[in-house]
Amino acid sequence: NRQVLLASRPFGAPVQSNFSLIYSEKPSPKVGELLLRTVYLSLDPYMRGRMNDAKSYADPVELGDVMVGGAVCRVEESLNDDYRKGDWVVAYTGWQDYAISNGENLLKLPENMPKPSKALGVLGMPGLTAYMGLLDIGQPKAGETIVVAAATGAVGSLVGQIAKIKGCNVIGIAGGQEKCAYAVDVLGFDYCLDHYADDFSMQLASTATSGIDVYFENVGGKVFDAVMPLLNSCARIPLCGLISQYNATELPEGPDRLASLMGMLLIKRAKMQGFIVFDDYGHCYGEFSSQMSQWLNEGKIKDKEHIVEGIENAVDGFIGLLEGKNFGKVIVRVGPD
Ligand code: NDP
Repeated sequence: NRQVLLASRPFGAPVQSNFSLIYSEKPSPKVGELLLRTVYLSLDPYMRGRMNDAKSYADPVELGDVMVGGAVCRVEESLNDDYRKGDWVVAYTGWQDYAISNGENLLKLPENMPKPSKALGVLGMPGLTAYMGLLDIGQPKAGETIVVAAATGAVGSLVGQIAKIKGCNVIGIAGGQEKCAYAVDVLGFDYCLDHYADDFSMQLASTATSGIDVYFENVGGKVFDAVMPLLNSCARIPLCGLISQYNATELPEGPDRLASLMGMLLIKRAKMQGFIVFDDYGHCYGEFSSQMSQWLNEGKIKDKEHIVEGIENAVDGFIGLLEGKNFGKVIVRVGPD
């Protein structure tokens, strides 16, 4: 049983030595339990927060513990009447080959699901995040302009496509020309701007000529600085993530901008609302999953997976995710179907 443990806490960007790969005995289930075998492991930005010894909405991973994470698993052995050997489930089993479950908090997948890994992306946590964050907090209306960064990533790619379905003008922001071309040509965004461009904020101002009605916040930092002056009255800002800050070790340089942020929220009568997907919207999973499946079947939504081969490459995949090296939803193929 290969397991990736948290070996030390990172200062700034995580490095290989913050993790260790160990081999342990394959566990055995007791009565009422299941042995799960990981087939696909999801890598997600929130895992960076769990590596810190800091209070957040969830407890940190302890040093020496298996890194946390959602996975698509096969039931390898079942001593639980609700599951049979061979069932596919989504489970929160972490970075390892095998785990024991008591059958609680598992999501059983349909037996004939063509691509079970989608349950970690477009039909899973990132999909629910995009769908509820945009529709419930963003409240997009036809004809409005919405901006989303990390535009080709797991969440952002779906935010922009759902906004297009709702009749909005969509401006994506992504790292590099290849990602931008994909956002426009394949995902159907109206525009996509490269945040590495020196004149990025000027480009955004000359593209969002009618201002910005919804800014779906995935990254923070200089992207938010460029968006803020362009927000329209009564703009909505679903505050989903701040990935540009996850490796920060100190406050950004320059004057304290809290007063200008609060001033903007006041005079623009804007709404900024944070959310934690399963805490706020776990109960909406059924509604989301049937709508998203329909859109996928109709070809209205496209999704892209960035597959990392083998659990021994999970650390590199995770470090790359925080650096923007991924192109799509990052999934580690841990074992055969
Ligand atoms: P992505 O697949 O979008 O991957 C992360 C992307 O972030 C990178 O590919 C990169 O894209 C972009 N990025 C990284 N650093 C920077 C930077 N300094 N400036 C601008 N962009 C950067 O990840 P997810 O879709 O899984 O997550 C997107 C966001 O949503 C994250 O902030 C995450 O924490 C948040 N989230 C929040 C949830 C919630 O419940 N609130 C649930 C799920 C996700 P590029 O190369 O295009 O810059």
